[in-house]
Amino acid sequence: MGGGFSAPEPPGPALIIVAKQTNCKNRRMTDPSPGHCVAIIGGATAGAEIAHRLANRGVTVAVFEQNSRPYGKIEDGLPRWHEKLRQKEYGTIREKLSHPLVHFIPATKIGRDVAFDELVNDWGFASVILANGAWQDRPLPIDGAGSYLGKGLVYQNPFVIAFNHAEDPDFSGERFDVHDGSIVVGGGLASIDVAKIITLTCTQRALAERGIALSTTELEVKGIPKTLAAHDLSWEDLGLAGCTIYYRRREEDMPLVSIPDDASSERIEKVKKSRRTLLNKASEKFKLKVEPLAAPDGLLEEGGQLVGLRFRRTQIENGRVKTTDETFERRGPVVISSIGSIPDPIEGIEMKGELFNFMDWTYGRLAPYPTVFSVGNVVTGKGNIVASRKHASAVSQDAVEVFLGVSDDPDATVALEPPGAEVAERVADELAAGPANDAEARQALLKRIAQRQSAVDYPGDFAAWIASVGGPC
Ligand SMILES: Cc1cc2nc3c(=O)[nH]c(=O)nc-3n(C[C@H](O)[C@H](O)[C@H](O)COP(=O)(O)OP(=O)(O)OC[C@H]3O[C@@H](n4cnc5c(N)ncnc54)[C@H](O)[C@@H]3O)c2cc1C
Repeated sequence: MGGGFSAPEPPGPALIIVAKQTNCKNRRMTDPSPGHCVAIIGGATAGAEIAHRLANRGVTVAVFEQNSRPYGKIEDGLPRWHEKLRQKEYGTIREKLSHPLVHFIPATKIGRDVAFDELVNDWGFASVILANGAWQDRPLPIDGAGSYLGKGLVYQNPFVIAFNHAEDPDFSGERFDVHDGSIVVGGGLASIDVAKIITLTCTQRALAERGIALSTTELEVKGIPKTLAAHDLSWEDLGLAGCTIYYRRREEDMPLVSIPDDASSERIEKVKKSRRTLLNKASEKFKLKVEPLAAPDGLLEEGGQLVGLRFRRTQIENGRVKTTDETFERRGPVVISSIGSIPDPIEGIEMKGELFNFMDWTYGRLAPYPTVFSVGNVVTGKGNIVASRKHASAVSQDAVEVFLGVSDDPDATVALEPPGAEVAERVADELAAGPANDAEARQALLKRIAQRQSAVDYPGDFAAWIASVGGPC
């Protein structure tokens, strides 16, 4: 799973107005096109989930996706050996976006091709949903590190994307050499995937030199020691150093298994034990090492190139990381930073530190934009497919559907801080007053969507588009 960020604690009690669902259920049944149009930014797990839910309730949905293909981190996060999971998730996303009320708009990055403020305030959407995930790497927290990008420092997101597309001749993104003995800074599940990419690729190369052709996926399934044994080889025969992950906490803190919120102390101990067991197994199977209690502290530079890091020994006190006076240095051909992903800024959305400045972290609402909600990784900070899907479904059911007046529960209410409640009432009133929305405005909006689709050569048919953009399907 991908490293993420923690959503801040919700602010203290704020004035909350309860927006009540207007009963438009009967009207919707007699009017198959109720008129509301919603824009969704990002068409992957979370975006496809909420698009489908809203479309099932008669809402017309426009899904703006920056890439040609809508698979997000399923395509560009999950390393490619997760073959079955990827195929399953690709199928789910495709099926959800194939709904006749969903208009897919590929190759359109909000903030670059269409301004966010314009989308929210000018296009005429009743609501805009952010489902844009976390596509930027959290910067390595050492002064001056950024100047070594491409000179010994690599970030996890482009590294994994390049690995997944390594055999795609049409891939136009950055490509990276994979080096034995790389230093990985991290500790989440994504950092284990990064270390595995290194050891599997280096093993694959070493075997190829001996005339043994195997894919990294085959190696991943069987594991390195068993594969080597099948060819009468050992890890030592290959002469590889492997890869070390430097982690500022303890091995038992690595989130390989999650601790339930209400876990007893015995349960917590059991989870920690299984984390250590899983980590030991992964270390053996993939020849990776973990150096715990090590926080990056300084850069080792030679001739303008990053050649390693200075680490500071840490200790854990009451669950918190404390640094000590002890430091040590490690050298390696490349440093890969895998310390979490954060949302890519979008012009028009205020940031608070490295995150969007949400006034409400439950529904991902932004104070200046009362019609905006957010779903999935962009607001949960959890690099997890199921978490993104469940969050999208919950925000749709508990907030967006009530806000739009299309909830199946006529008594549903949603607590929205002002000015959201007033906007929700206005939207619901418009819907209740009928005819559903202003027909001219709706036509103008649909025309604008079609114009953008035509600008990116989208044929108007999702299945035809997906077939035309190729790649693994
Ligand atoms: C290395 C790695 C390994 C992982 N392994 C696992 C695993 O084993 N199991 C698991 O459950 N999870 C795993 N995850 C995490 C999981 O893949 C993601 O958390 C989940 O898929 C996120 O879904 P999402 O829809 O919230 O966001 P994303 O998948 O990030 O979707 C966001 C979408 O928005 C689009 N977008 C972004 N910005 C814009 C914009 N400005 N305009 C238009 N479109 C935009 C993106 O192109 C993307 O399609 C892993 C992640 C990584 C990085």
